[in-house]
Amino acid sequence: MANHKIAILRGDGIGAEIMDATIGVLDAVCIRFKHKFDYTFPLIGGEAVDNEGVPLPQETVDVCKKSDAVLLGAVGGPKWDSLASHIRPEKGLLSLRSALGLYANIRPIVLYDDLKNASPLKNEILKNGVDITFVRELTGGIYFGTRGYRDGTLGQEAYDTEAYSVKEVERVARVAFQIAEGRRGKVTSVDKANVLESSRLWRATVARVAKDFPKVELENMYVDNAAMQLIKNPSKFDVILTSNMFGDILSDEAAMLTGSIGLLPSGSVGDGKRGLYEPIHGSAPDIAGKDAANPIATVLAAAMMLSTSLGLHEETGYIESAVRKVLAKGYRTPDIYTAGTKKVGCEKMGELIALNILNA
Ligand code: NAD
Repeated sequence: MANHKIAILRGDGIGAEIMDATIGVLDAVCIRFKHKFDYTFPLIGGEAVDNEGVPLPQETVDVCKKSDAVLLGAVGGPKWDSLASHIRPEKGLLSLRSALGLYANIRPIVLYDDLKNASPLKNEILKNGVDITFVRELTGGIYFGTRGYRDGTLGQEAYDTEAYSVKEVERVARVAFQIAEGRRGKVTSVDKANVLESSRLWRATVARVAKDFPKVELENMYVDNAAMQLIKNPSKFDVILTSNMFGDILSDEAAMLTGSIGLLPSGSVGDGKRGLYEPIHGSAPDIAGKDAANPIATVLAAAMMLSTSLGLHEETGYIESAVRKVLAKGYRTPDIYTAGTKKVGCEKMGELIALNILNA
C-alpha cells in the first residue's frame, strides 16, 4: 500500500473531461492495489487567468512542489489568444516546467497493433512495429536563447540563438541512456553537426556520456536524415535523443505514425523523482464539452507517472494492458473510429479502462 500526493491540473478545453476519465482509472488502481492517492486541484492556464489574473499562480507552483507528481490536462484556447504573451495560458505551462526544474521531456511513440489502419503509413513499413521513446531537451536551445531585432545589411532582421552548455547536454543524455538500458539498448542522437557549432558540442558531449553506458549502442544522425528515416523505417529507432527544437518537430512527425495525437503521453523530468505528466495534444477547443475527446493519452500519462515518479511499475503495466485490451475489443473514441468498431465517448472510454483494471 502506497500513499502519494498528486497535483491534478485540469487546465482548459477538454482538460476537465480527459482528467475526470483518468482519475476514474487511477481510482481503479487504488482499489485494486489498496493505494491512497491524495489529489489537489490547483489552477493553471486560462482558468487561472480568469480567476487569478495570471496563468501560473504562485500557489499552484507551491502545491506542485509539495506533491510527488503532477498530472496536467491541457491549457489554452481562443478565449485567451489575444492576451499579451506573458499572461497567455501556454506561458503558465512553460513557467511551471522551469519552476520544477524539468529539463528532459520523455515521449513514447507506440503504434498499437489494433490501430495499424489509423496510421498513414503502409502496412509493409509498419510490419516490424513502432516503439520509439523520444528524449527531448526541454529548457535550453533556441527557444530560450537570446533573440531580438537589429539592423542587418539588408535592413531590419530578427534573430534567435541556439546555445547549449556541456552540462545541459550531459544531464539530458544521461536520461536517454538510462531509458535505453531498460529498453532495446540503442540511443540515436539527432543533431546538425555538419553545420551547427552547438550540434558539434552536443555530439562530442553525448559520446562522452555514452562511455558510462557500455551496454547501450550510440548512433549519431543528422536531423534531416532522421526526418526521412522516421517515415521510411521507423522500427529502426529505440530511443531518440535530441535538442529542444529538433525534438519538438520530430516528435510531432513521429506522433502521426500512430494515427492520432489523442493516444500519446509525455512526461517531463529533472534531477529528482517528481515529474510533470501530460498528453501531447492541446486543449482541443473544437471538441471541448462534447464527450468526444480521447482520454487515452492522459490515461497513459498517468501510467508513466506511476512508474517514473512513484515507482509503481506493476500498476503501470495494468493500465497499459487495460488500454490494449479495450482497443482490442474494438472500442474507439471518434478520433480513431473506423467502420466496424464500437464508437464510445470520453467518459465511457475511461470507464471501460477502469473496469478492465478492476476485473483483470
Ligand atoms: P490541439 O492538440 O488542441 O488540437 C488539434 C486537433 O487534434 C484538433 O482537431 C483536436 O480536436 C484534436 N485533438 C486533440 N486532442 C484530442 C483528443 N484527446 N481526442 C481527440 N481529438 C483530439 O491543438 P491546437 O488546436 O493547435 O491547439 C488548441 C489550443 O491548445 C491552443 O490554445 C494551443 O495553444 C493549446 N495547446 C496546448 C498544449 C498543452 O497544453 N500542452 C499543447 C498544444 C496546444
